[in-house]
Amino acid sequence: MLIAVALLVMVMLVAAMKEVALSTKGFMPEDEGDALFSAAVDAGTPGKGKPFVEIGSYCGRSTVWLGHAAGLCGATLFAIDHHAGSEENQPGWEWHDPALVDPESGCINTFPHFQETMRRARLENHVTPIIGDSPVIATTWTDEIQFLFIDGGHGRDVARNDYLAWAPHVCVGGVLAIHDVFSDPAMGGQAPYEEIYLPAVNSGEFVEVSCTGSLRILKRIKPSPNQ
Ligand code: MG
Repeated sequence: MLIAVALLVMVMLVAAMKEVALSTKGFMPEDEGDALFSAAVDAGTPGKGKPFVEIGSYCGRSTVWLGHAAGLCGATLFAIDHHAGSEENQPGWEWHDPALVDPESGCINTFPHFQETMRRARLENHVTPIIGDSPVIATTWTDEIQFLFIDGGHGRDVARNDYLAWAPHVCVGGVLAIHDVFSDPAMGGQAPYEEIYLPAVNSGEFVEVSCTGSLRILKRIKPSPNQ
């Protein structure tokens, strides 16, 4: 009886989580969000308490899945974003959304939308936002990371810098998750594939665990020589 009640509560929690995630602006498809959630729970459970880090939160859509996983694992998710939008979100680009422009500054500001998403998802106690450039924030970061999700800008330098700055912090047994990985240039931009995925796999430090759409889940099997 107790197990049935616990299962029912879990099903209701997951349904509530998905309702918020799917009603939030962003680019994370449902099946990939579900895969992100499962991978984070799997990775975070044995490493209980070690932090999760998300690079590129936008309005918090993927953060809902990841934040709930962090909560289940007793971890904090640090959600890093400058909240000024990536290159492809700027006016004139394909993924620009005028509703995200702050009327006073005339610039994109996704942080109020992110805060509202975290409030609706009741994740304020599990998600700590950090506003700024991810490589700059990484210069003072010292903790081992249990689950790292890179979903930042898709320029080559931006993707490469996110990988170089953050991947060394992933602990052995921890996970590097990468979004928008397309091995076929006809399917999408190549920066996450060529500047994050390939260097990680070719380093011999990570092995691929799963692939769902453009989401790749890699596990660290060897420590970084830079740590
Ligand atoms: Mg993405």
